[in-house]
Amino acid sequence: MNLKSFDIVIVGAGPAGGHCARILAKSGHKVLLAEQNDNFNKNDFSSAATPLETLYKFDLPESVIGSFWHKLTIQTSKVSQTWESPESMGVVLNFAKFRAFLASEVERFGGEVWLGYRYTGHSQSTGETTVEFKQLSDGKLIKVSTKVLVDATGFARAIMYEKEKDKPDFLSGTGIEYLIEVEPEIYNKHSGDLILFVGDKWMPKGYSWIFPMEPNRLKVGAARIFLEQKTLRHLSPLKKYIDLLIDEYLKSKNYKILDKHGSMLKYSRGLKDIYCKDNIIAIGDSVSTVNFLGGEGIRHGMDGAQIAGKYIQSYLEGKISDFQDYEREMHRKFDQKWNISERLAVRKYIDDVNDQLTDKMISYLKYMKTEDVMEILFHYKFEKISRGLGGYLQRKIKELINKFHL
Ligand SMILES: Cc1cc2nc3c(=O)[nH]c(=O)nc-3n(C[C@H](O)[C@H](O)[C@H](O)COP(=O)(O)OP(=O)(O)OC[C@H]3O[C@@H](n4cnc5c(N)ncnc54)[C@H](O)[C@@H]3O)c2cc1C
Repeated sequence: MNLKSFDIVIVGAGPAGGHCARILAKSGHKVLLAEQNDNFNKNDFSSAATPLETLYKFDLPESVIGSFWHKLTIQTSKVSQTWESPESMGVVLNFAKFRAFLASEVERFGGEVWLGYRYTGHSQSTGETTVEFKQLSDGKLIKVSTKVLVDATGFARAIMYEKEKDKPDFLSGTGIEYLIEVEPEIYNKHSGDLILFVGDKWMPKGYSWIFPMEPNRLKVGAARIFLEQKTLRHLSPLKKYIDLLIDEYLKSKNYKILDKHGSMLKYSRGLKDIYCKDNIIAIGDSVSTVNFLGGEGIRHGMDGAQIAGKYIQSYLEGKISDFQDYEREMHRKFDQKWNISERLAVRKYIDDVNDQLTDKMISYLKYMKTEDVMEILFHYKFEKISRGLGGYLQRKIKELINKFHL
C-alpha cells in the first residue's frame, strides 16, 4: 500500500512544533503537524508570560493575548519590589488559543494538522522515514512517510530517545497552575502586574506566580525544581502553595477555579541533548531551549524552531546532507547564557541558598531601572546587576554574588 508522503513530519504542536510547521508550510513544503491531544484546551499547561517582543518577532495576533502587563513584582519572604513602565512590557498569552492559532496558520498555508494522533515509532529506509501514529479515538495505527522528521515533543523527547535510560541528566521542574475567577476589586488591584514569588515562605525549592489574564481571571501557580524524583517524597504538595497565594496574598474569599493544569520541564544540564540524527532533528524543549532559571521557554522554543526551519529548507534543497550545523548554531546561541542561568537555578533551587540572601539581593535591585531589570530577567544580561548601580551597592551586590558562589 502506498503511504501518504510529506516533506516534513513534525510531532508535537507546542510553540516550537507549531511555529516550525507554520514557517515550512508557508515556504511551500508539504508539512504534517501531529499532536497527541485532540484539542488545545486539554494541555493548556503553560503560564505563558512573555515580553512584548514575542508578538512582533513571531507575528502573533491580538486574539492570542490573555492580558498585557506593565508592572513586574518580585516578592521574597520579606521583601516586595515592583518595577513599572508607562508602556506595556509584555503579555500573558492564552496558551490554548496561541497554539490553536499556530496550527490554523499551518492549515492556511496548505499543511495538514492531525490532532489526537500519538507518535509510536519510526523506521528508516533509503533516505525516507516511515512514521507510525496511533489514532487515539479508535486505536487505529497509521503510517506516513517523510523526508525529514522533527521531534517537537517537549520534555518527552519521544523520537530522539527510545529508552528512558539513554536520556542525559536532567534538572527537572513540576508546575501546577489554577486559572481562577476573582472578585473585580482583587483583579483590578493585580491586573497589569506579573508577580513572581521566590522566597521560602511562598515556595521553597522553587517559585510561584500570579499572572493576570482576561478580566477577573488570574493564573496562580507554583513550580518545584529537583534533580531526582526521590527528593520530592517528603515535601508538601504544590497545591498548598497555590492556596497560600490565594488566601494570604490575594485574600480572595469568593474565587472560582475555572481550570487546573500542569506539566513538567526537563532541562539537560550542560545542554547535552541529541539535536539531530540522520534526517531527524529536535527542537524546543526537546533540546532544552527553556531557560531554567525562570522557566521561560515559549520565545526560545520558537527562536530555535526558526533556526531549525532554515536548515530543514537547505536539507530539502540538497544544500546540506545533515543537521550538524544546526546543532553548532544552537550551541553558539544558547550555551553561554543558559550555563549561567543553570548555575543560578541550581544554587537557588537545589542547593537552597539562604533565604536572607534572596531578600537582600532583591532589596538592592530596587534601585535599578525597569529597563535594566527586564534586560536581566528576560535577556539574561546578568552583568547589568552590578553595572546599573552606584559604587556602594555594586560592592554589596558583588559580595552577594560571591556568597552565591557564581
Ligand atoms: C507550569 C509551567 C509554566 C510555564 N510558564 C511559562 C511562561 O510563563 N512563559 C514561558 O515562556 N514559558 C513557560 N513555560 C515553558 C513553556 O511552556 C515551554 O518551554 C514550551 O511550551 C516548550 O514548547 P515546546 O513546543 O518545545 O514543547 P511543548 O509545549 O511541551 O509541546 C510538546 C507537544 O508535544 C506533544 N507530544 C508529546 N509526545 C507526543 C507523542 N508521542 N505524540 C504526539 N504528540 C506528542 C505534547 O502533547 C505537546 O503538545 C512553562 C512551563 C510549565 C510546565
